[in-house]
Amino acid sequence: MIALLPGFLLKLPRCTLLTSRRALTQGSCEQKYLATFDFDLSIIEEDSYMAVTRLLPPDQRTKKLYGQIQESGWIAFMQQVLETLHQQHGIGAAKIAQQVREVPAVPGILGLLRRLAAQRAHIDMHIVSDANSFFIEHWLEAHQLTNIFAGVHTNPASVDCNELLQIMPYEQQTHCDLCPPNLCKGGVMANLMAAVHVPYKRIIYVGDSCNDLCAIVALRPGDIACIRCGEELHAKLPAHEHQLRCELLHWRDGDDLEQQLFDDCLRNL
Ligand SMILES: [Mg+2]
Ligand SMILES: [Zn+2]
Repeated sequence: MIALLPGFLLKLPRCTLLTSRRALTQGSCEQKYLATFDFDLSIIEEDSYMAVTRLLPPDQRTKKLYGQIQESGWIAFMQQVLETLHQQHGIGAAKIAQQVREVPAVPGILGLLRRLAAQRAHIDMHIVSDANSFFIEHWLEAHQLTNIFAGVHTNPASVDCNELLQIMPYEQQTHCDLCPPNLCKGGVMANLMAAVHVPYKRIIYVGDSCNDLCAIVALRPGDIACIRCGEELHAKLPAHEHQLRCELLHWRDGDDLEQQLFDDCLRNL
């Protein structure tokens, strides 16, 4: 326990604990569910970085620009986009927030999130995302969802005195080959599992892309990985099924996901 403490404390400032009061007041004996969501293409219907990059004029949205995601990583790419918007086009944090707030939700997902939130006595809800705290918090606020998540685990962001948005890595990890250096989602899941006195009854993880793979590898037998049909991970999953202990659920939109979850693992709520 003592050995785990420094790492746990290091991660605390990077997790926005929106409703930590709830965690402190919940009953200590009940086995709860954990519902964990990726953000881009799992809650919102577009990659948030693509929506923000569209603020650049078309002639600056080049293959070379997008190639930097592979070359230098997502955070360095995003920071260059943000600096170009700021320095060359006078676009700062307020306009970026507005752009993100207008990204549509995955069809039907708002209904599912609100139905899960109505069961907050029995379900802890978290977001684990490689986007950033600024995008996520603004989008949640625009959809009156700020208070339903117990935690948002993502790259922290801040706005400087000149209205320039700056994104920092959640962590600098070298232990996991499945994840980028700035965020190991499986590590976040392990921390969430270790943070409760009574193990979760079942864990639900909702994701769409290969950066969700590590999180679902961390799931236990009986837990459920909800993989979105038609997106990146769905196509690549057969190659990784031997690594998984959890059950798989395939979903198209929020209505479909809600029906499958409440017909099966959540039917007794
Ligand atoms: Mg995603
Ligand atoms: Zn990982």
